[in-house]
Amino acid sequence: MGRRRIYLDDNASAPLRDCAREAAVAALALYGNASSVHAEGRAVRRAINEAREAVARLAQTPASNVVFTSGATEANAMALDPAAKVGGKAVTHLLISAIEHPSVLCGGRFAPQQRVVLPVDGQGIVAPAAVEAALAALPDDAVALVSVMAANNETGVVQPIGEIADIVHAAGGALHCDAVQAAGRLDLGTATEGADMISLSGHKMGAPTGVGALVLRGDRMTFGKPLIGGGGQERNRRAGTENVPGIAGFGAAAREAVLESDVWSEILVLREWIEDRLRTISPDVAFVGGAGARLPNTICAALAGVQAETAVIGFDLAGVAVSSGSACSSGKVGPSHVLEAMGVADDLKRAALRISLTRNTTREEAEAFVAAWEKICVPAAARQSAA
Ligand code: PMP
Repeated sequence: MGRRRIYLDDNASAPLRDCAREAAVAALALYGNASSVHAEGRAVRRAINEAREAVARLAQTPASNVVFTSGATEANAMALDPAAKVGGKAVTHLLISAIEHPSVLCGGRFAPQQRVVLPVDGQGIVAPAAVEAALAALPDDAVALVSVMAANNETGVVQPIGEIADIVHAAGGALHCDAVQAAGRLDLGTATEGADMISLSGHKMGAPTGVGALVLRGDRMTFGKPLIGGGGQERNRRAGTENVPGIAGFGAAAREAVLESDVWSEILVLREWIEDRLRTISPDVAFVGGAGARLPNTICAALAGVQAETAVIGFDLAGVAVSSGSACSSGKVGPSHVLEAMGVADDLKRAALRISLTRNTTREEAEAFVAAWEKICVPAAARQSAA
């Protein structure tokens, strides 16, 4: 790999931030246990608490509401718990959108008969009216937990969380929001407005992998039972000696992420430049979910005739890392449940490539991607139309 690589797979995992690396390395030198009363233990506790403050600021909630986990998969599993209480009552039903990450789609600790899947429209949006209809169809004494993500990992489509929260609250329920892809890229106050719980993942924001958080917002609901029993860490909500380097790195990344909306405005300009170029080169290209609000860094581009998995290998050989629309779970090749739920046509579903810019992507890198597209995707589409 002598040539410089161009990494356009930020939604899979973002490059580690310098500040996060430094904070994690500094925390590796701390050798106390945060539960110990001595000075060494207190130093570790301080590092964890500083990180908690930073994550709480990002999530716009008090620090005591932040529970550190091993990542968003665990945060989602912890969130989806029928023992959670809304207004003092245990949750009876779980409503999840059809485009959620598999860690939400699997329903957590809810029994299959307690779950309802919410449809999305052709643009990948969970219509507030669909949430309202699903809530109205529940029994009168139902207490609903609704889970809708802030932004989709495959398409970047941003959901109308504020409107959905109002509907859920009016029906006496609570809203969980997987904010993994929105965190650090959108203001979470707006992107997760009204959500009662949000899930975050460190490595999508430039922190190390293996750390995340479930964050409570407001006082409408309380957490249910811990997933992991044992010691009293995280205020008895998540047992286990803390992942101090990961947490410290997460805190540093969160601190930096709240300050960088300008970075993402520039990335949006670059994303639009790429889309314009692709449209010029390949007038038939479809941008899946392209009509509505999207993350500033995400393009889901589909050109009939392209086999996404083959194209990903071609891009890789050309030095460019992108992913197929379906490749969020490691090694999985198959139709994307997100594109399926959106009703994307089969030839486009097979062709969907996800290009997700990092906060450091440059114009030169964008140009190199477009050049690779011309070499890889344009001939594949031409072969299909000649056949
Ligand atoms: N939710 C979304 C939307 C994601 O994109 C991911 C990661 N692919 C997760 C949850 C899981 O996060 P983690 O890797 O921290 O378990």
